[in-house]
Amino acid sequence: QKFIVVTGGVLSGIGKGIFSASLARILKDSGINVNILKIDPYLNVDAGTMNPNQHGEVFVTEDGYEADLDLGHYERFLGIDVSRKNNITAGQIYLSVIQREREGKYLGSTVQIVPHVTAEIKERIKSMSGDLLVIEIGGTVGDIEGEVFLEAVRELAFEIGRENFLFAHVTYVPFLRTTNEFKTKPTQQSTQLLRKIGIHPDTIVVRTEGPIDANSLYKVALFSGVPRNMVINLPDSPNVYEVPNILHSLGLHRLVARKLNLEIRDNYTWHY
Ligand code: ADP
Repeated sequence: QKFIVVTGGVLSGIGKGIFSASLARILKDSGINVNILKIDPYLNVDAGTMNPNQHGEVFVTEDGYEADLDLGHYERFLGIDVSRKNNITAGQIYLSVIQREREGKYLGSTVQIVPHVTAEIKERIKSMSGDLLVIEIGGTVGDIEGEVFLEAVRELAFEIGRENFLFAHVTYVPFLRTTNEFKTKPTQQSTQLLRKIGIHPDTIVVRTEGPIDANSLYKVALFSGVPRNMVINLPDSPNVYEVPNILHSLGLHRLVARKLNLEIRDNYTWHY
């Protein structure tokens, strides 16, 4: 099994969900058996008790699970029915570790974030089907709640083999009107933060309001240590259902397949 881990930098709400779903779609249309998982670092067990004004719609899956709205993106972009298995929250992970502790299953050991909570996260990830699993980690790198999940995927990449993992970091590059330039510093810093915890991204997805200049993308590549061809720009699109088309025309499926050593045959059928 191969894994793509999508993290976010700089700001939340920059489009990790749309990117993850779109990437999964173009890979599905490349003949790969793709599955997708959303990890939500919040302590709610599910999204059912969260204010939709604050958090967006609650998406109810076929098996009656109240999930984050990103699961709706997954269904619409991938043309599949997702279930409760496609979403992990920190609340579920901690609840199950604590329940196990009460049942005496840890046999006298001190129950800790590392290794017990990370082990629970890794087990949940490993139980997912599919030849390729896209894992979207909610929030932004640097959030306290997200740390344990980043540690778990870092360990998993070490255990399963780094060559089976592709880390995609989605960041935002603002345009400063006063000086008429794109500012890459926040992206550099969030990539450094990711490297500090032992994850060197393989690709950086630069979200911008409008198209960015080549020089700014080169700066992102240089300061993040990511090859220039793996730094891609995703400007705001008037229609999010165009995003798979944009990624496909950039050839992202081929870049990802080469990196993960996946055999693909192009049979692109996405339409909306
Ligand atoms: P995240 O998962 O990072 O929180 P989402 O994928 O849920 O972000 O997207 C946040 C909002 O931004 C949504 O309303 C979505 O429709 C919009 N959005 C995401 N990607 C794009 C894009 N490339 N162009 C325009 N709007 C986008």
